[in-house]
Amino acid sequence: MSNIVIKNLYKLYNPNKPNAFYALKNIHLNIDDGEIMILKGISGSGKSTLLSLIGGLSKPSEGEIMIHEQNIAKLPDIMSSAFRHQEIGFIFQSFNLLEGLSVYQNILAPLALTTLSKETMHERIHQAMQLANIEHKKDQNVSSLSGGERQRCAIARAVVMNPQIILADEPTANLDKENSLMFIEILKKFKALHKTVIIATHDSVFDDLECIDRCVHMRDGELVE
Ligand code: ADP
Repeated sequence: MSNIVIKNLYKLYNPNKPNAFYALKNIHLNIDDGEIMILKGISGSGKSTLLSLIGGLSKPSEGEIMIHEQNIAKLPDIMSSAFRHQEIGFIFQSFNLLEGLSVYQNILAPLALTTLSKETMHERIHQAMQLANIEHKKDQNVSSLSGGERQRCAIARAVVMNPQIILADEPTANLDKENSLMFIEILKKFKALHKTVIIATHDSVFDDLECIDRCVHMRDGELVE
């Protein structure tokens, strides 16, 4: 079953201005529940724009994005924030951690918006840290972590709400080879958990991996065969 259905998607930046620019054009894409998909393309081809629309961070100019049968393109901002909080885990290239706070506090942040009990929150954080292999650093200030550890903290934070969909934008761009391979180990855990994962990348480390179901290419805002 497809849990993401994208139809006729367009994104126009700077509409009605001389620098108006179509970053996405005529995108049709179905992504199955539990599918791990790579979105490939050179810088500027539209990968981040597509992820941000799927994640409800911005709205399309035209078209539909059905997630669990809800058209998120049409949700008012307050509802798309709530939807994103529950359903989507984002892993950003630059990690977007809360500097000055510990690993544990960073992972707690999304849960702080919920009414879960303290015990449940603690259990969720523990599970997320285990999945991302960062538990041994739980009390360390994130500002003093290595790049790989920062990313593992960001991954734990992305999964602590237990989202079905995980979006990763150039997740290995700031990592060395060893940490990139560690990311792939976490990807295999996502596969085992039947998460739907979309990774925008041009890193060849993802080529020919068994855990990856599909690789889709983008060029100039369009999907190419
Ligand atoms: P990728 O992730 O593949 O590098 P992006 O989605 O970031 O590509 O960008 C696609 C195109 O859209 C690029 O040409 C970029 O300059 C342009 N773009 C991205 N964001 C904006 C914006 N906020 N305003 C105008 N143009 C943008």
